[in-house]
Amino acid sequence: MQLRALTTAFSSRLSRSMSLTVSAAFDSGNIEVESVAGGVAKLRLRPEPFTEGTDKRAHSQWFYFKASNVSQTTTRFEIGGLLESSYPEAWPDYHVAATHDRERWFRLDTAYDGASGTLSWTLPPGEASQVYFAYFAPYSYERHQDLIARCCASPLATVEVIGSSLDGRDLELVSAGTGPLNLWVAARQHPGESMAEWLADGLLRRLLDPVDPVAAALLRLATVRVVPNMNPDGSIRGHLRTNACGANLNREWASTGEYAAPTLERSPEVFHVLRKLDELGCDAYVDVHGDEEIPANFFAGTQGIPAWTPRLASLFRAFSAAYAHASPDFQTVKGYGDDEPGQANLAICGDQVAQRFDCLAVTLEMPFKDSTFDTPMPECGWTPQRAERLGASLLDALLDVAPTLRA
Ligand code: ZN
Repeated sequence: MQLRALTTAFSSRLSRSMSLTVSAAFDSGNIEVESVAGGVAKLRLRPEPFTEGTDKRAHSQWFYFKASNVSQTTTRFEIGGLLESSYPEAWPDYHVAATHDRERWFRLDTAYDGASGTLSWTLPPGEASQVYFAYFAPYSYERHQDLIARCCASPLATVEVIGSSLDGRDLELVSAGTGPLNLWVAARQHPGESMAEWLADGLLRRLLDPVDPVAAALLRLATVRVVPNMNPDGSIRGHLRTNACGANLNREWASTGEYAAPTLERSPEVFHVLRKLDELGCDAYVDVHGDEEIPANFFAGTQGIPAWTPRLASLFRAFSAAYAHASPDFQTVKGYGDDEPGQANLAICGDQVAQRFDCLAVTLEMPFKDSTFDTPMPECGWTPQRAERLGASLLDALLDVAPTLRA
């Protein structure tokens, strides 16, 4: 009895002395702490390095951090300075993603003050003493290594390291299939668009399922080439848009004056994938991304390239329709709109690949928020699990158009 009283007194003293802490010194972490006092954490985004010639200024939008000692009292989180972030228009209607167990992510009520550029949310006291918050559920480098190991273990796939990043990480190409067509899916040129690798994971899981009839049919018609993570350095460093030196990889695919061609010094990730594309050829390319503002899944096409033809227009329409049929989470109403003829930026992957190989190429965008158009899920928003299923459904759409790609 005496012992229990002593223990209670000790733990009560301990809990009173526990105060809120915030840290982001881990894989994909990004936050800077301005102050933590009275249960309120005032935070800032850590900007990415800036490389002249890629974008106009340093990017910041991605965040991922851990709050500890939060079980006893209400805590409040405020990320300021967001008028200077890459996409300030993306913050209204955004809900922060959170997890206790690093597996199941949920969304919290989140407010955005557009006058000051401050995103804020409140966490009530609860059982868990630690909570992770992120712009979107991260896809860790450990998980990436597991994905690659899974592909290596599959009798249906081969894995080739095609080069290395600026920080010395492997760039992996997973290939499966025996058919003559070359179908490419590449994810995460923009590393903070982590939903792209969740999609690649779901696609590969189905593609390498030996009893999936759609995968089997596709692998007879084509060889499917998947780059699950184009930008491992940016992913680990907690960047939204750029690699280790601050290059936006999706502006590195051609020399068009304002933009740079890929080089080993600045954008080896693009250099190596482009070299492999030239070696193997390409009959269709899906470049997988996330969009900060538009709450929907959609394609951006290559209508503005000089080589745009009725054949490519017809393939784009057929592929879009097939994907919408395969997954109700994909839609064709909301999007960026088409480029005007001749106005394509050939430094962008999709445009460069379509122009270079006279082939179907699309940029697939997923939301950071939710697919509010037809299939909203407000309690969780867009999630890893939903991205994985959208990746699996991409095989249906690819199989649908494959016979017509070079007809
Ligand atoms: Zn992107």
